[in-house]
Amino acid sequence: MSKAFNIVILPGDGIGPEVMAEVRKVMKWLEDNRGLSFDIYEDNIGGAAYDQYGVPLADHTLEKAMNSDAVLLGAVGGTAWDNVDYDKRPEAGLLKIRKKMDLYANLRPAIVFDALVDASTLKEDIVKGLDILIVRELTGGVYFGEPRGIEELPNGERRGFNTQTYTSSEIHRIAKVAFEMARKRNNKVTSCEKANVMESGKLWREEVTNLHKSGYSDIELSHMYADNCAMQLCRNPKQFDVIVTDNLFGDILSDEASMLTGSLGMLPSASLGDDGRALYEPVHGSAPDIAGKNIANPLATILSFAMALRYSLDCSEEAELIEKSIQNILNNGIRTIDIMGEGCKQVSTSQMGDALIKEMAK
Ligand code: NAD
Repeated sequence: MSKAFNIVILPGDGIGPEVMAEVRKVMKWLEDNRGLSFDIYEDNIGGAAYDQYGVPLADHTLEKAMNSDAVLLGAVGGTAWDNVDYDKRPEAGLLKIRKKMDLYANLRPAIVFDALVDASTLKEDIVKGLDILIVRELTGGVYFGEPRGIEELPNGERRGFNTQTYTSSEIHRIAKVAFEMARKRNNKVTSCEKANVMESGKLWREEVTNLHKSGYSDIELSHMYADNCAMQLCRNPKQFDVIVTDNLFGDILSDEASMLTGSLGMLPSASLGDDGRALYEPVHGSAPDIAGKNIANPLATILSFAMALRYSLDCSEEAELIEKSIQNILNNGIRTIDIMGEGCKQVSTSQMGDALIKEMAK
């Protein structure tokens, strides 16, 4: 029986439309060959939306996104909008959609494909076969906590301050996502904070432990100070399965983990909220330097779509088919310019999409 999914596609700016066109090819193939059916609504976001609607995210676009099974986003930004007011800049559209959809869980996998092991700056034996997932809390913590500001002190000095704050329910909902993800992977969660020096970290550790006891004792849980985690990610990243952490530490640790793989054009991400709200996007930006040249790597965006299939659409088999096929074409030496290696065949954005479709059909 055919499954029909409501998908909102927001290609955005720069290379966004180019890489998203390749996702559309994969979707079409899945419709023709796997009995899936996608009801697609496509619209602008970022600079393209500003040019069309005068705002980087129109209300009607947001409403469609809120009511979809998944949002697929390309990237936003570019120098054309450098002089636009801050609240109408392309990036404001991205922040607004994440905030309005209350996407509190940011999932960033760091996977090293065998064929690209040389792209990492770390030694081969440290990263070969790496497959970890960082779950970062995205809507709380020190980036949003009050009070915040910069004030003048009586002695003439200035003082900048922010507040790190988490409630038990905020900790529970993000830890729950991490435990649920671990159940679909290797059953291991490492929770990171600074319980040694921060009260919010102490609460984080206690609440993660409470939730673990009350419903997830089948998962192996360990706690680690965030600074140690940063070190362990370089020393022995394969010790991890799922890492769960707050907004600030997650910002840093997820960038560190993703760079273990060495290639920006290969990194997908997902941001999840309650009631099935979800947005999937590559980690990279709109790459204005290569936009319009048909040379961008579409695999990060296609891998983000694979995450949507797995986490929002309950189509793990199709997600796996995409991921395995990508593995195979890389093993066969097919590369876009950003991941080009000696003796490999350089292909364009659209040729990479075509090669993937051909491989999936095998
Ligand atoms: P970027 O990720 O766009 O590009 C960094 C470098 O990586 C560039 O040299 C680019 O050519 C290359 N690159 C990126 N993606 C690639 C791909 N798929 N294939 C091949 N090469 C790729 O970051 P930036 O240059 O710092 O920012 C450019 C614009 O993107 C800015 O306007 C920024 O605000 C925006 N941005 C948007 C997002 C987003 O939409 N989520 C994220 C980061 C940056």
